[in-house]
Amino acid sequence: LTEKLQNVFKNLRSKGRLTEEDVKAALKEVKMALLEADVNFKVVKNFVKTVQERAVGQDVLNSLTPGQMVVKLVNEELVTLMGSDTTEIALKPSSEISVILMCGLQGAGKTTTTAKIAGKLKKKGRRPLLAACDIYRPAAIEQLQKNGEKQGVEVFTMGTNHKPVDIAKAAIEHASKNNLNVVILDTAGRLHIDEDMMAELQEIKENVEIDDTILVVDAMTGQDAVNVATTFNEKIGVDGVILTKLDGDTRGGAALSIRAVTGKPILYVGMGEKLSDLEQFYPDRMASRILGMGDVLTLIEKAEAEIDQDKAKEMERKFRKAEFDFNDFLDQMAQMKKMGGIQSILSMLPGMGLPTDLEIDDNIFKGIEAIIYSMTPEERGNPAIINPSRKRRIAKGAGVNIAEVNKLMKQYEQSKKMMKQMSGMMGGKGKKKGKF
Ligand code: GDP
Ligand code: MG
Repeated sequence: LTEKLQNVFKNLRSKGRLTEEDVKAALKEVKMALLEADVNFKVVKNFVKTVQERAVGQDVLNSLTPGQMVVKLVNEELVTLMGSDTTEIALKPSSEISVILMCGLQGAGKTTTTAKIAGKLKKKGRRPLLAACDIYRPAAIEQLQKNGEKQGVEVFTMGTNHKPVDIAKAAIEHASKNNLNVVILDTAGRLHIDEDMMAELQEIKENVEIDDTILVVDAMTGQDAVNVATTFNEKIGVDGVILTKLDGDTRGGAALSIRAVTGKPILYVGMGEKLSDLEQFYPDRMASRILGMGDVLTLIEKAEAEIDQDKAKEMERKFRKAEFDFNDFLDQMAQMKKMGGIQSILSMLPGMGLPTDLEIDDNIFKGIEAIIYSMTPEERGNPAIINPSRKRRIAKGAGVNIAEVNKLMKQYEQSKKMMKQMSGMMGGKGKKKGKF
């Protein structure tokens, strides 16, 4: 696949803005990649459409091909979609009992994950109690007990002859008497979505105050993950999702599908059978895994870093030689605007002579820009040639008074002089490494 992608990139050497063809060609590959990662096909369709609309007409970063630029945008969009940050399980203060309801299909990893979460909470100073609400398989209770023992966490069970809702109530009672403050209810699943299972969970939710309903989904579920998540969310309401078995070779498209369709955050990911194998969910890492274009993403990152470094180096060189011209002036202004406007430009353009305590709006840039844009490229690169007749022409072109042009020229001269002084100071000391 990566080879195919590289071919696409090779064919898309044109720079400038992303054309519809650039975007379409690259998105075709992205679409394939997402489907291969088992992202739900409807989700893929919508996603590709969104990116398509966003990408066409965007500037292509220097040193990226249009195809790479599209992948960069795709990756950004993926991260945004999956939540830009990590999300925690919401708990009440330690003085109260929080109740977590675990739900999901059979074999998804509920019982294992219940114990994993208990371990995490214990480390955070909580006192968890695990409640065995899966009454259909005696082995399930035993499994929970074993896991609880490994984690040093108590397990509450009433055998198989009580209703799950009653076990849940009794467990909370038990926690209250024994000074435990998080109750995690491990429930039964079925192989498929099933009315009885839903009814049982609904009964618990209606009769017990649940703080978090966590849906456990097997990452290998693939296309079906969307149905599972949608149904559980509609029938009982889900607060967060844990995706298990990501240690396998699945690319984890279910994470994207679930998030896109339900809007519910992924809280953790299961990375193995061991009880310590529960990790925080990082949208950026998941995005790159789903996309499966690690090489391309690394390349993009490098290119971005290089651009910044090149610019910085070039500026520094000019600074030292006081070669600063109007092109740099424009460059700086554009960069400053990106960085948040006038306050920062003041600190970057020495000698502008603008009082820092004054309320200045960014319209001041427009006047300066207009003047610089009225200069020929030659004039911008070599301001020394700007004589009175050129000044008149520039003023006319920019629609300003010639005095404005003179003012800008003066500011420019001041900046340059200031730079000479500063580079003199810098030149003496040089750049000492390791000083900071
Ligand atoms: P439940 O039916 O939902 O309670 O699922 P279980 O907790 O019993 O897990 C079913 C199987 O999946 C068990 O063999 C677990 O060891 C395994 N399992 C659970 N989570 C993970 C995981 O993150 N990675 C791997 N490799 N296996 C897991
Ligand atoms: Mg179980």
